[in-house]
Amino acid sequence: MNGVLVLLEYRSGASGPTGWNRMSWEALAAGQEVAAELHQPLMAAVAGGDLDAAAADLAGKALARAYTVRHPLLAEYTADGFTTAFEQLIQLVVPSLVLFPHTYQVRDFAPRLATRFGQSLIADVIAIGMESRQPVFVRQLLQGKLTADYVHTGTGPCFASLQAGAFRADALAQGVCTVENFVPGLEASQIRSQPGERFRESAQTVDLSAASLIVSVGRGIKEQGNIPIVQELATTLGAELAASRPICDSGWLPMERQVGSSGQTVSPKVYIAVGISGAIQHLVGMKGSKAVIAINKDENAPIFEVADYGIVGDLFEVVPALTAAVRKARGA
Ligand SMILES: Cc1cc2nc3c(=O)[nH]c(=O)nc-3n(C[C@H](O)[C@H](O)[C@H](O)COP(=O)(O)OP(=O)(O)OC[C@H]3O[C@@H](n4cnc5c(N)ncnc54)[C@H](O)[C@@H]3O)c2cc1C
Repeated sequence: MNGVLVLLEYRSGASGPTGWNRMSWEALAAGQEVAAELHQPLMAAVAGGDLDAAAADLAGKALARAYTVRHPLLAEYTADGFTTAFEQLIQLVVPSLVLFPHTYQVRDFAPRLATRFGQSLIADVIAIGMESRQPVFVRQLLQGKLTADYVHTGTGPCFASLQAGAFRADALAQGVCTVENFVPGLEASQIRSQPGERFRESAQTVDLSAASLIVSVGRGIKEQGNIPIVQELATTLGAELAASRPICDSGWLPMERQVGSSGQTVSPKVYIAVGISGAIQHLVGMKGSKAVIAINKDENAPIFEVADYGIVGDLFEVVPALTAAVRKARGA
């Protein structure tokens, strides 16, 4: 066994828009880091029907080799098709480690793929350390209250999926690599399910990842009727308004404004966190911000651990005062 293989996600079928799942590049960046530390070659693979555009993208990445796994029966995703096709590729490549982005599709087929090799999937990894030249996978337990380290002890390849936002796509090194075509042996009778309507990841009409200034609101705001207090600060600063998950889950702001592991990953110049505690699932989405300003009435809130500037105070006093000060400074 030698090499790190990253299985990427690209939609190629006729039943919807085509293109990469953005988490693919995060997984590939993680793969580059781990492969370098293990001194093993890095490979990537993508499965589908029409993969010409995907192959062209992969040819420009710093990889030892990339594979396009092509077959008409892979044009639309099915767990049976993707599991069998990737199983055959892994038998050919014999990697020591297989990484995936933790997408909805990966959740569907990756545990089954790991089982084909007598392994289990180390799912939703937030960090990868190294001990005695062996990867140590960090996962969260009990809704993020604890983290645990996992080390692969089996004899087969190790399978791990990576949480959204845990690795940075902008760290991905570009380069030149050979892209090989791999045609798996697949028959229609092996595919027991019909492709249904595609799962749509949360629609992103607001691209927070491009914002240079973000004001983000959390449960400290108490009720929907208070959101305008924070919206006013955002508008005055010319910032995008974002939120923690409970705010979007409650329907107080649209899902597309959610920052975190199950929302958007952002890296603005300034991120102002208002009434946000700083749970790990939120932090992974904004830890790339250049400067973090936290406003929270609890001085022990974890958000202060990542904040460059902190205001310990009641947001209902601090935010209107800040808005007024910005207006005054701008002479408005
Ligand atoms: C699988 C999974 C995925 C998740 N994905 C995400 C995700 O993508 N994004 C995300 O954000 N969360 C996510 N979560 C939820 C996450 O674990 C936290 O529950 C959530 O981030 C907490 O949101 P919050 O900080 O707004 O609320 P809380 O944790 O309730 O914090 C509210 C904060 O407001 C402060 N506060 C209260 N009143 C005031 C006041 N008057 N003035 C100032 N401060 C005040 C409190 O001190 C507290 O620190 C996920 C959880 C799981 C299990």
